[in-house]
Amino acid sequence: MLLCYHISNNQLTVVNDVFIHNKKNTVFYLESILKYYKYITGLSLTVDIYLYDDIPAMSISMKEKIYFRSSLIDIKDVAMYLYFPHEIFHQLIGNDVKFVGDGRLWMLESFTEYLQLRYIMHKNKNLANRYICFILERYKDNISNDVPIIAINDESYELQIVATIESRGVLLFHIYFMNVDDFHLKMMLEKLAIVKNVSITVFLQICCEIGINVERLSSDINNIGNYEQIKAGIYENYI
Ligand SMILES: [Zn+2]
Repeated sequence: MLLCYHISNNQLTVVNDVFIHNKKNTVFYLESILKYYKYITGLSLTVDIYLYDDIPAMSISMKEKIYFRSSLIDIKDVAMYLYFPHEIFHQLIGNDVKFVGDGRLWMLESFTEYLQLRYIMHKNKNLANRYICFILERYKDNISNDVPIIAINDESYELQIVATIESRGVLLFHIYFMNVDDFHLKMMLEKLAIVKNVSITVFLQICCEIGINVERLSSDINNIGNYEQIKAGIYENYI
C-alpha cells in the first residue's frame, strides 16, 4: 500500500506521484476534481489516496480513504476523468450519505456515476457526449441482464451492476436531471448531506421540495429498462 496523494480540507499534497509521465498534469487533474467537488457540494474534502492492488475492484472508496489498482496508472485520463471523480463523490454519497431500503445499491452507484458524468460535462462537453454514447452502447450490450431497480440490493450480481447500475442508472439520472442547473443540484446535495439516510421515498421528497421532477423514477423502479425509450430520452434533449 502506497500513499500517493494526501488531501486535507481540499488542499492537495503529492506524496508519491505514480502517474509520473507529467506531475504538473496530475496536480491539475486532481485540483480540478477538488474544485468541482467544493463547487457542487459546498464541502471541503479530506482523503488519502493509496495505490493498492489487493482490492475487489479497480478502485474503491472508504471513509477518508481511496484505493486504486496499479492497472490505472497506464490509463491516466480514464483514471482522472472516471475513477477518481467517482471515488471522490463516494466520499459524500456512500460514506457520508447512505441510501437505505430497496434499490439502495442501484441508487448509490447510479447517482454517484451521474455526479461523475456531471463533472465530465462541466470539464468537457464533447468528452461527456462521447461518454454518454459509450454508456448507451454498454447498456445495449448488457440489456439481457437488466432487472427492476428495486431488486438490485446485492453486490454480487456483477453483470447486473454493469448493465443496469453503471449504464441504465446513469442514463436515467442524466434524463431526470437534464434541466437541473448546478445551483439546484447543489441544494439537493446539501439536503442529502443533512438527512444522511436516504430511502427512495426520501430522495423523491427532497427532489420534489427543490422542484426537480423525478416522477419517472417511481415507475422506472418497478420495471426493467427499455433501451429505445432511454435512447429517445437522451436524444430528445439534444434537439
Ligand atoms: Zn461506485
